[in-house]
Formats: sequence, structure tokens, C-alpha cells
Amino acid sequence: MEEYSKRTEKLKKLINDADYILIGAGAGLSTAAGLEYSGKRFYDNFPEYMKKYGFTDMYTSMFYPFKSPEERWAYFAKHVYVNNTGMEGTYLYKKLYELIKDKDYFVITTNTDDQFLKSGFDKERFFRTQGSYSKLQCSKACHNKLYDNEELILEMIEKTDEDLKIPSELVPKCPVCGEEMDLNLRKDNFFVEDDEWHKQNQAYVDFRKKALNGKLLLLEFGIGFNTPIIIRFPFDELLKSSDNINLARFNRSHVELTVEHNGQYYLVPEDELDKYLSPEINERYLPFKEDIGNTLDELF
Ligand SMILES: [Zn+2]
Repeated sequence: MEEYSKRTEKLKKLINDADYILIGAGAGLSTAAGLEYSGKRFYDNFPEYMKKYGFTDMYTSMFYPFKSPEERWAYFAKHVYVNNTGMEGTYLYKKLYELIKDKDYFVITTNTDDQFLKSGFDKERFFRTQGSYSKLQCSKACHNKLYDNEELILEMIEKTDEDLKIPSELVPKCPVCGEEMDLNLRKDNFFVEDDEWHKQNQAYVDFRKKALNGKLLLLEFGIGFNTPIIIRFPFDELLKSSDNINLARFNRSHVELTVEHNGQYYLVPEDELDKYLSPEINERYLPFKEDIGNTLDELF
């Protein structure tokens, strides 16, 4: 890997020169922004849930088999509040916005905390593929509509009792089929993609097509291997597809590239890429294991 200062200088120039910037973001960006699912942030916000259920973090708690909808919604109301409803745009996301706001940009993200929207990014240039904590849908996906949940979440939190249950009348029911409502998160085959989702998806496709006409910079933040086929692998392919495309990948532990060799795909560490890729492609790939916040600071 090249020296850090050389890579930041290079990235600064790439941002300057780019006609188009496509940001791809996963959980690692929100973790870097301070929205951690474990540690102090969890202990500070969920002491009563640690005591009652033995929860250790906000990730595993989402899979807990709650005995009743009243208990499940009490937990999720708090989870949604802590990660979305009660959060403003964070410093890191705002800084990223300042960096690219005057460029022709687009954002694709698997994050459901809406930090991009809260930090100034244009919702017309934004595609959240996996849903949002801020929306409700029918749990059986009987109809194709989403509902804002802010007021309901606040009321649930206010009325959660000492046993960590909400009143039964607050358990949201589908206005069409009467089944329970659920958060709009992609976790099973009942995920609802509403008209807005399809519109965002089309805007993403259109942006990618348009961006092939100029210099495109891919800025990838904190995407691991939970759902690499959504952003990470397509970015790898884009990088290899054109001399006009550069990729800067920010990842604490995984800055590999996917490389096809004799019909097989391999994850190749950055320092072995020259065995598989031409120097021209290597030149257009900028890996960063360093802290995202610190690196963004260097770019101003
Ligand atoms: Zn329904």
C-alpha cells in the first residue's frame, strides 16, 4: 500500500477531477460516525434490557425471540429511536456531504439509519436498498405501501411500562389485512419495495449509465461481506470496466478486490493485486484501512 499521505493527496485530486461521484456505504460508515451497536452507547441506552433479557449489544438483541408483540415493540421502539428517530445528522456524514455537495453525486446504501438524509444529502440522489427504521409496512406485505412511524415510536417509548411492555392498543395493525405491521427492513421475503424504492432504484441505474460518459469516482465506505453483491462486488466490476473509473475503498479490515482468474473469483489482498491485474487498474484503486473521519479531515 502506498504511503497514507500519497493516497490522501491522490484522493483529493480524484474528487476534484471527478465529473461524477458515486458513494456506496455500509454499516462501517455509521460505526465510524459514532452510531455503534455495542459498547458504551449500548450500555448507556439499554440498562433495563440488559437486566431483563441479558442483552449485550443492539445487533444480537434484534434476533431475540420476544414472547409477545408488546415486549418486542417496546424494545424496537427504543432501538429505532436510538438509531434513527432520536438522531440528528452526525459530524462525519455532514463532513462527507460538505466534501461532495458541489459535485454530481449519487448515494447507494444498505444503512437503515437515514444518516445521509439527516446530513443534507438530496433524497433524489439517494437509494436505500434495505429499507429504513423510520418506516412501517404490513408484516405479510399484503400491500405495497410504507408508513412513517415517528409519532408511534415516540408514543411507544413514553408508554413502555416497568415490565418493558407497550400497551396492546399501540401494537400496529395493517389497515388492509389486519395482520401486525413490521419495520421496513429487508430480513425476509416480506420486504416491501414501494413506489419510492423503485424510483430510487431507477435513479441509481440512470446515474450509473450517465456517469460512464465522464470521470467517475466510486467512494466506498464500510462495506463488509454481509451483502457484498449489492454494492461491493458491482464496484469492483465497475473499476475494472473502464479507464475513467477510480475506486477508493475505506475498510478497517477488508480492502481486498474481487478478481476473476480462470473463471473463478478470488478476493485478492491489495499487495498481491499486481499478480492479477494490470498496472493501469491497480493505479485506479485506492484502499484505505485508516480511520474514515481522520481521512476526510485530510481532504479539506
Ligand atoms: Zn396487510
